[in-house]
Amino acid sequence: MSPPVSVTIPMSMHIGAPCSALVRVGDTVSVGDVIAQPGGYVSAPIHASISGKIKAIGDFLLSNGNTVPAVTIESDGEMRLSEKILPPDVNDYESFIEAVKQSGAVGLGGAGFPTFVKLSVKDLDSIKTVVINGAECEPYITSDTRTMLDRSDDIRFGIELLEKYLGVKRIIIGIENNKRECVDEMKRINSDDPTVSVVALPASYPQGGEKVLIHNTVGVIVPEGKLPIDVGVIVLNCTTLAFIAAYIRTGIPLVEKCVTVDGSAVKEPKNVIVPIGTSIGDVFDFAGGFIEEPNKILYGGPMMGISVPSLSDPVLKNTNALIAFNKKDSVLQKTTPCIRCGSCVSHCPLHLDPRAISKAVEAESTEKLEKLKVNICMECGCCSYACPAVQPLVQRNRLAKAMLRAKQAKQAEIKKKIQDESDSTGKESESDD
Ligand code: SF4
Ligand code: SF4
Repeated sequence: MSPPVSVTIPMSMHIGAPCSALVRVGDTVSVGDVIAQPGGYVSAPIHASISGKIKAIGDFLLSNGNTVPAVTIESDGEMRLSEKILPPDVNDYESFIEAVKQSGAVGLGGAGFPTFVKLSVKDLDSIKTVVINGAECEPYITSDTRTMLDRSDDIRFGIELLEKYLGVKRIIIGIENNKRECVDEMKRINSDDPTVSVVALPASYPQGGEKVLIHNTVGVIVPEGKLPIDVGVIVLNCTTLAFIAAYIRTGIPLVEKCVTVDGSAVKEPKNVIVPIGTSIGDVFDFAGGFIEEPNKILYGGPMMGISVPSLSDPVLKNTNALIAFNKKDSVLQKTTPCIRCGSCVSHCPLHLDPRAISKAVEAESTEKLEKLKVNICMECGCCSYACPAVQPLVQRNRLAKAMLRAKQAKQAEIKKKIQDESDSTGKESESDD
């Protein structure tokens, strides 16, 4: 896709602290210039995705309801690459992690977790297996499929980097078996490497969920409250790995994204590589526009995607798909009372009880929510999809998690207050002495 007239880049496109802008209105930037620095440890720098002038810096309402600052760049039409771009100097684990950090990499499969944090471990021996996620299980989305077919050299180089700098002895590439060409291509590029095995998994949603994938490839369960690394595993999305490899080779940071454009309202569904911050309206125009008025547009797929309120919203670092449905495919059925059929329970991959969670949310019982382990819900949407009463189960689960977060924040605040009071009482008695 040719460069857009302008891009709007929010300062939060990842899990963790939002970034703070380093540019001012009127500044000139080139592609790859750092325009925002991380706002904390769990964060990732942001780079200019087009060359031009900073036109505005203002508040931006994200589709998740949060408002963050955003930088708008007006294109000069040149897509001039920054002179500062150079392949990073990588020669050991520390310099590899630093390079991944500077690249701006976040989980490109949709999660958006800063990649350098995931790869930062105290003891390299704790990494027993790296699982490369090529499952791409959500309907419609095919951007990882294109990566595996079109950028297999980058994936192979990424595997060599993991072996060299993380000392990984076992790498498993998990791919759903409905992507036969990807399985064959991954086997071909790794045929001389005994460290790597390619596993064809049943095409079954949510096969690509991190914990599901670990269970189905490595055969272990990540316990509640633990991280994959606690069982010796790191999971990396295949497009994230391909990007890291390309960055180490070229020094070009995360400035563009391959996005699947699909859905019943789209004229010419396709995968498009676009500068981050491009308006989704521009991307749909490139896909021939709409056959009919879209009734619902999603960031991501139909199971986990979030509704986009406006066509002027931008493509983010973790946007892997833009799906536009016509009215027929997106009409909201009427919610009816729960009939206690148990379908939501039997369809939950983590054996949660979404019906009971809903009741606990209504009763505002955080104790019950903790007992029902809602925090391990991966928001896959299977329960909502399987519910004949069209209950908004996954939405209530999100609400439940927000209630628990609020409770934890309040407890931390009380603890801090008590601590502060006891510190000041101690100081007073010391001065009395
Ligand atoms: S969204 Fe529903 S089905 Fe998916 S993990 Fe959560 S409770 Fe289970
Ligand atoms: S699937 Fe729906 S109707 Fe059935 S028990 Fe769960 S919430 Fe109730």
